[in-house]
Amino acid sequence: MSSPVTSPHERSKPKIAVLGSINMDLVIRCDRLPKPGETVAARSMTEVPGGKGANQAVAAARCGGAVQMIGRVGDDGFGQKLLNNLLQESIDCSAVLTAQGCESGLAIVSVENSGENAIIVIPGANARLSAEDIHRSESILADCDVLMVQLETPQPTVLAGIQAAKRAGAKVILDPAPAATLAEALFDVDLICPNESEATAIVGGRLETIDDAAEIAKRLHAKGPAAVAITLGARGTMLYDGQTAELIKSIKVDAVDTTAAGDAFAGAVAVRWAQTGSLRQAIQWANLAGALAASRAGAQPSLPTHQQIDSLSS
Ligand code: ATP
Repeated sequence: MSSPVTSPHERSKPKIAVLGSINMDLVIRCDRLPKPGETVAARSMTEVPGGKGANQAVAAARCGGAVQMIGRVGDDGFGQKLLNNLLQESIDCSAVLTAQGCESGLAIVSVENSGENAIIVIPGANARLSAEDIHRSESILADCDVLMVQLETPQPTVLAGIQAAKRAGAKVILDPAPAATLAEALFDVDLICPNESEATAIVGGRLETIDDAAEIAKRLHAKGPAAVAITLGARGTMLYDGQTAELIKSIKVDAVDTTAAGDAFAGAVAVRWAQTGSLRQAIQWANLAGALAASRAGAQPSLPTHQQIDSLSS
Protein backbone atom coordinates (compact mmCIF):
# COMPACT_ATOMS: atom_id res chain seq x y z
CA MET A 1 0.00 0.00 0.00
CA SER A 2 1.39 3.43 -0.89
CA SER A 3 1.78 5.91 1.94
CA PRO A 4 -0.38 9.06 1.85
CA VAL A 5 1.21 12.21 0.42
CA THR A 6 1.98 14.68 3.20
CA SER A 7 2.59 18.39 2.87
CA PRO A 8 5.87 19.77 4.29
CA HIS A 9 3.85 21.20 7.19
CA GLU A 10 2.54 17.79 8.20
CA ARG A 11 6.00 16.28 7.89
CA SER A 12 7.71 18.60 10.34
CA LYS A 13 7.34 21.74 12.40
CA PRO A 14 10.85 23.20 12.38
CA LYS A 15 12.20 24.91 15.46
CA ILE A 16 12.87 28.55 14.66
CA ALA A 17 14.52 30.89 17.18
CA VAL A 18 14.19 34.63 16.55
CA LEU A 19 16.55 37.02 18.33
CA GLY A 20 15.38 40.57 17.79
CA SER A 21 13.35 43.67 18.49
CA ILE A 22 9.85 43.87 19.88
CA ASN A 23 8.19 47.27 19.41
CA MET A 24 4.86 48.97 19.70
CA ASP A 25 4.19 51.21 16.71
CA LEU A 26 2.06 54.22 17.58
CA VAL A 27 0.56 55.21 14.24
CA ILE A 28 -0.70 58.78 14.29
CA ARG A 29 -2.78 60.05 11.36
CA CYS A 30 -2.93 63.78 10.75
CA ASP A 31 -3.85 66.08 7.86
CA ARG A 32 -0.25 67.24 7.57
CA LEU A 33 2.98 66.63 9.47
CA PRO A 34 3.98 69.42 11.91
CA LYS A 35 7.00 71.59 11.10
CA PRO A 36 9.65 71.95 13.86
CA GLY A 37 8.09 73.92 16.75
CA GLU A 38 4.55 73.53 15.41
CA THR A 39 1.61 71.67 17.00
CA VAL A 40 -1.04 69.95 14.88
CA ALA A 41 -4.13 67.95 15.87
CA ALA A 42 -4.16 64.26 14.97
CA ARG A 43 -7.20 62.48 13.56
CA SER A 44 -6.45 59.10 15.17
CA MET A 45 -3.83 57.04 16.98
CA THR A 46 -3.53 53.25 16.70
CA GLU A 47 -1.27 50.87 18.62
CA VAL A 48 0.19 48.29 16.23
CA PRO A 49 2.64 45.60 17.43
CA GLY A 50 5.84 45.66 15.36
CA GLY A 51 9.63 45.51 15.47
CA LYS A 52 11.50 43.45 12.87
CA GLY A 53 12.21 40.64 15.33
CA ALA A 54 8.58 40.27 16.40
CA ASN A 55 7.34 40.61 12.80
CA GLN A 56 9.66 37.83 11.63
CA ALA A 57 8.65 35.63 14.58
CA VAL A 58 4.97 36.05 13.65
CA ALA A 59 5.80 35.40 9.98
CA ALA A 60 7.63 32.17 10.82
CA ALA A 61 4.87 30.98 13.18
CA ARG A 62 2.18 31.55 10.53
CA CYS A 63 4.38 29.69 8.03
CA GLY A 64 4.34 26.60 10.26
CA GLY A 65 7.40 27.03 12.49
CA ALA A 66 7.56 26.27 16.21
CA VAL A 67 8.91 29.68 17.16
CA GLN A 68 10.83 30.84 20.23
CA MET A 69 11.36 34.56 20.65
CA ILE A 70 14.47 35.94 22.37
CA GLY A 71 14.16 39.61 23.26
CA ARG A 72 13.22 42.20 25.84
CA VAL A 73 10.17 44.33 26.54
CA GLY A 74 9.90 47.17 29.07
CA ASP A 75 7.98 47.27 32.34
CA ASP A 76 5.60 49.90 30.96
CA GLY A 77 2.02 49.27 29.84
CA PHE A 78 3.12 48.16 26.38
CA GLY A 79 5.30 45.28 27.59
CA GLN A 80 2.43 42.94 28.50
CA LYS A 81 0.45 43.87 25.37
CA LEU A 82 3.46 43.02 23.20
CA LEU A 83 3.92 39.69 24.97
CA ASN A 84 0.22 38.84 24.66
CA ASN A 85 0.36 39.57 20.95
CA LEU A 86 3.20 37.07 20.45
CA LEU A 87 1.55 34.46 22.68
CA GLN A 88 -1.63 34.72 20.58
CA GLU A 89 0.47 33.60 17.62
CA SER A 90 1.59 30.51 19.61
CA ILE A 91 5.12 31.91 19.95
CA ASP A 92 7.06 30.67 22.98
CA CYS A 93 8.05 33.77 24.97
CA SER A 94 9.88 32.12 27.86
CA ALA A 95 13.09 33.87 26.70
CA VAL A 96 11.48 37.31 26.43
CA LEU A 97 12.75 39.20 29.47
CA THR A 98 11.38 42.36 31.04
CA ALA A 99 13.79 45.27 31.41
CA GLN A 100 13.09 46.93 34.76
CA GLY A 101 12.73 50.71 34.81
CA CYS A 102 12.80 50.86 31.03
CA GLU A 103 10.21 51.55 28.34
CA SER A 104 9.36 49.02 25.62
CA GLY A 105 10.67 49.67 22.14
CA LEU A 106 8.43 52.25 20.48
CA ALA A 107 8.07 53.68 17.00
CA ILE A 108 6.10 56.91 16.71
CA VAL A 109 4.88 56.85 13.11
CA SER A 110 3.16 60.06 11.95
CA VAL A 111 1.40 59.79 8.59
CA GLU A 112 -0.14 62.76 6.77
CA ASN A 113 -2.91 62.66 4.15
CA SER A 114 -0.42 62.66 1.26
CA GLY A 115 1.04 59.39 2.62
CA GLU A 116 4.31 61.11 3.62
CA ASN A 117 5.48 59.99 7.05
CA ALA A 118 7.93 60.86 9.82
CA ILE A 119 9.12 58.18 12.23
CA ILE A 120 10.89 58.37 15.58
CA VAL A 121 12.16 55.07 16.99
CA ILE A 122 12.85 54.64 20.69
CA PRO A 123 14.91 51.43 21.09
CA GLY A 124 13.97 51.19 24.79
CA ALA A 125 14.21 47.62 26.13
CA ASN A 126 15.60 46.33 22.80
CA ALA A 127 18.84 48.19 23.56
CA ARG A 128 19.08 46.32 26.89
CA LEU A 129 19.18 42.87 25.28
CA SER A 130 22.69 41.75 26.19
CA ALA A 131 25.13 38.99 25.28
CA GLU A 132 24.57 37.70 28.83
CA ASP A 133 20.85 37.32 28.06
CA ILE A 134 21.84 35.22 25.08
CA HIS A 135 24.00 32.95 27.24
CA ARG A 136 20.93 32.39 29.42
CA SER A 137 19.00 31.34 26.28
CA GLU A 138 21.76 29.00 25.15
CA SER A 139 19.51 25.90 25.48
CA ILE A 140 17.08 27.39 22.92
CA LEU A 141 19.89 28.13 20.50
CA ALA A 142 21.38 24.68 21.04
CA ASP A 143 18.07 23.08 20.06
CA CYS A 144 16.81 25.20 17.12
CA ASP A 145 16.98 24.34 13.42
CA VAL A 146 17.27 27.98 12.33
CA LEU A 147 18.15 31.22 14.12
CA MET A 148 16.85 34.46 12.58
CA VAL A 149 18.54 37.76 13.51
CA GLN A 150 18.26 41.40 12.42
CA LEU A 151 20.02 44.58 13.53
CA GLU A 152 17.46 46.33 15.75
CA THR A 153 19.17 44.94 18.87
CA PRO A 154 22.84 45.62 19.82
CA GLN A 155 25.38 44.03 17.46
CA PRO A 156 27.42 42.29 20.24
CA THR A 157 24.18 40.58 21.33
CA VAL A 158 23.36 39.52 17.78
CA LEU A 159 26.90 38.19 17.40
CA ALA A 160 26.63 36.16 20.62
CA GLY A 161 23.43 34.60 19.24
CA ILE A 162 24.98 33.79 15.88
CA GLN A 163 28.00 32.16 17.51
CA ALA A 164 25.91 30.05 19.93
CA ALA A 165 23.59 28.84 17.13
CA LYS A 166 26.53 27.99 14.87
CA ARG A 167 28.25 26.03 17.65
CA ALA A 168 25.07 23.97 17.92
CA GLY A 169 24.88 23.39 14.16
CA ALA A 170 21.78 25.51 13.47
CA LYS A 171 21.39 27.51 10.26
CA VAL A 172 21.62 31.28 10.78
CA ILE A 173 19.76 33.88 8.69
CA LEU A 174 20.76 37.56 9.03
CA ASP A 175 18.43 40.30 7.78
CA PRO A 176 20.82 43.30 7.97
CA ALA A 177 18.12 45.89 8.67
CA PRO A 178 18.34 48.71 9.45
CA ALA A 179 21.42 49.09 7.29
CA ALA A 180 24.41 49.95 9.44
CA THR A 181 28.14 49.38 9.58
CA LEU A 182 28.36 45.70 10.39
CA ALA A 183 31.08 44.09 12.52
CA GLU A 184 32.93 41.67 10.21
CA ALA A 185 32.06 38.66 12.40
CA LEU A 186 28.34 39.21 11.72
CA PHE A 187 28.82 38.05 8.13
CA ASP A 188 29.63 34.52 9.30
CA VAL A 189 26.08 33.27 8.65
CA ASP A 190 24.42 30.75 6.34
CA LEU A 191 22.25 33.34 4.59
CA ILE A 192 22.17 37.13 4.51
CA CYS A 193 18.96 38.61 3.08
CA PRO A 194 19.15 42.40 2.60
CA ASN A 195 16.80 44.42 0.43
CA GLU A 196 18.25 46.59 -2.35
CA SER A 197 19.10 49.61 -0.23
CA GLU A 198 20.62 47.55 2.59
CA ALA A 199 22.75 45.60 0.10
CA THR A 200 24.19 48.77 -1.46
CA ALA A 201 24.62 50.39 1.97
CA ILE A 202 26.88 47.49 2.94
CA VAL A 203 29.01 47.04 -0.18
CA GLY A 204 28.41 50.29 -2.08
CA GLY A 205 27.62 50.60 -5.78
CA ARG A 206 24.34 51.11 -7.63
CA LEU A 207 21.63 48.51 -7.94
CA GLU A 208 19.36 49.16 -10.91
CA THR A 209 19.56 46.18 -13.23
CA ILE A 210 19.46 42.45 -12.54
CA ASP A 211 23.13 42.29 -13.53
CA ASP A 212 23.88 44.92 -10.85
CA ALA A 213 22.04 42.76 -8.30
CA ALA A 214 24.15 39.72 -9.26
CA GLU A 215 27.35 41.75 -8.95
CA ILE A 216 26.37 43.16 -5.55
CA ALA A 217 25.35 39.71 -4.32
CA LYS A 218 28.82 38.43 -5.24
CA ARG A 219 30.47 41.32 -3.37
CA LEU A 220 28.35 40.56 -0.31
CA HIS A 221 29.23 36.89 -0.55
CA ALA A 222 32.92 37.78 -0.45
CA LYS A 223 32.34 39.19 3.05
CA GLY A 224 31.63 35.72 4.43
CA PRO A 225 28.02 34.47 4.29
CA ALA A 226 27.50 31.05 2.70
CA ALA A 227 24.63 32.42 0.58
CA VAL A 228 23.13 35.81 -0.32
CA ALA A 229 19.50 36.58 -1.17
CA ILE A 230 18.86 40.21 -2.15
CA THR A 231 15.13 40.93 -2.14
CA LEU A 232 14.17 43.10 -5.11
CA GLY A 233 10.51 43.92 -4.38
CA ALA A 234 8.21 43.05 -7.30
CA ARG A 235 11.16 41.71 -9.32
CA GLY A 236 11.74 38.83 -6.89
CA THR A 237 15.01 37.74 -5.28
CA MET A 238 18.63 37.50 -6.46
CA LEU A 239 20.14 34.32 -4.99
CA TYR A 240 23.89 33.77 -5.03
CA ASP A 241 25.13 30.58 -3.40
CA GLY A 242 28.82 31.05 -4.13
CA GLN A 243 28.52 29.40 -7.54
CA THR A 244 25.49 30.63 -9.45
CA ALA A 245 23.69 33.97 -9.38
CA GLU A 246 20.02 33.47 -10.22
CA LEU A 247 17.00 35.77 -10.24
CA ILE A 248 14.10 33.87 -8.68
CA LYS A 249 11.05 35.76 -9.90
CA SER A 250 8.09 36.69 -7.73
CA ILE A 251 4.49 36.62 -8.91
CA LYS A 252 2.39 39.56 -10.07
CA VAL A 253 0.14 41.09 -7.43
CA ASP A 254 -1.62 44.42 -6.95
CA ALA A 255 0.72 45.94 -4.37
CA VAL A 256 -1.18 47.81 -1.68
CA ASP A 257 1.45 48.25 1.06
CA THR A 258 4.87 46.62 0.95
CA THR A 259 5.49 47.12 4.69
CA ALA A 260 6.76 43.84 6.18
CA ALA A 261 7.08 42.09 2.80
CA GLY A 262 10.72 41.51 3.77
CA ASP A 263 9.68 40.08 7.15
CA ALA A 264 7.15 37.75 5.51
CA PHE A 265 9.92 36.65 3.14
CA ALA A 266 12.46 35.99 5.93
CA GLY A 267 10.01 33.97 8.06
CA ALA A 268 8.98 31.86 5.09
CA VAL A 269 12.58 31.18 4.01
CA ALA A 270 13.50 30.02 7.52
CA VAL A 271 10.62 27.55 7.76
CA ARG A 272 10.76 26.14 4.23
CA TRP A 273 14.57 25.87 4.21
CA ALA A 274 14.46 23.85 7.44
CA GLN A 275 11.68 21.65 6.04
CA THR A 276 13.15 20.92 2.62
CA GLY A 277 16.89 21.56 2.90
CA SER A 278 16.65 23.42 -0.42
CA LEU A 279 17.39 27.16 -0.27
CA ARG A 280 16.16 27.65 -3.84
CA GLN A 281 12.77 26.05 -3.07
CA ALA A 282 12.58 28.06 0.15
CA ILE A 283 13.10 31.31 -1.76
CA GLN A 284 10.49 30.43 -4.38
CA TRP A 285 7.97 29.88 -1.59
CA ALA A 286 9.12 32.98 0.36
CA ASN A 287 8.64 35.15 -2.76
CA LEU A 288 4.96 34.17 -2.63
CA ALA A 289 4.84 35.09 1.07
CA GLY A 290 6.37 38.51 0.31
CA ALA A 291 3.99 39.07 -2.60
CA LEU A 292 0.98 38.24 -0.40
CA ALA A 293 2.20 40.64 2.30
CA ALA A 294 2.66 43.38 -0.34
CA SER A 295 -0.90 42.87 -1.53
CA ARG A 296 -2.35 43.61 1.93
CA ALA A 297 -2.32 46.63 4.26
CA GLY A 298 -0.32 46.82 7.48
CA ALA A 299 2.68 44.99 8.91
CA GLN A 300 1.76 41.98 11.09
CA PRO A 301 -1.85 41.79 9.79
CA SER A 302 -0.46 41.35 6.26
CA LEU A 303 1.75 38.33 7.10
CA PRO A 304 0.35 35.21 5.40
CA THR A 305 -0.19 31.68 6.74
CA HIS A 306 1.33 28.60 5.11
CA GLN A 307 -2.09 27.58 3.83
CA GLN A 308 -2.46 30.93 2.05
CA ILE A 309 1.02 30.64 0.53
CA ASP A 310 0.41 27.05 -0.58
CA SER A 311 -2.87 27.99 -2.21
CA LEU A 312 -0.96 30.46 -4.41
CA SER A 313 1.66 27.90 -5.40
CA SER A 314 -0.78 25.09 -6.29
P1 ATP B 1 10.04 45.79 4.04
O1 ATP B 1 11.30 46.50 4.48
O2 ATP B 1 8.92 46.70 3.69
O3 ATP B 1 9.63 44.68 4.95
P2 ATP B 1 11.77 44.80 1.99
O4 ATP B 1 12.19 46.01 1.22
O5 ATP B 1 12.70 44.26 3.02
O6 ATP B 1 10.37 45.05 2.65
P3 ATP B 1 11.03 43.60 -0.52
O7 ATP B 1 12.22 43.42 -1.36
O8 ATP B 1 10.11 44.75 -0.83
O9 ATP B 1 11.44 43.59 1.01
O10 ATP B 1 10.10 42.28 -0.59
C1 ATP B 1 10.52 41.01 -0.15
C2 ATP B 1 10.08 39.97 -1.17
O11 ATP B 1 8.63 40.00 -1.28
C3 ATP B 1 10.60 40.23 -2.59
O12 ATP B 1 11.84 39.59 -2.78
C4 ATP B 1 9.49 39.63 -3.44
O13 ATP B 1 9.67 38.24 -3.60
C5 ATP B 1 8.22 39.85 -2.62
N1 ATP B 1 7.55 41.10 -3.05
C6 ATP B 1 7.64 42.32 -2.47
N2 ATP B 1 6.90 43.24 -3.14
C7 ATP B 1 6.31 42.57 -4.16
C8 ATP B 1 5.41 42.94 -5.23
N3 ATP B 1 4.98 44.21 -5.36
N4 ATP B 1 5.05 41.99 -6.10
C9 ATP B 1 5.47 40.71 -5.99
N5 ATP B 1 6.30 40.30 -5.01
C10 ATP B 1 6.72 41.19 -4.11
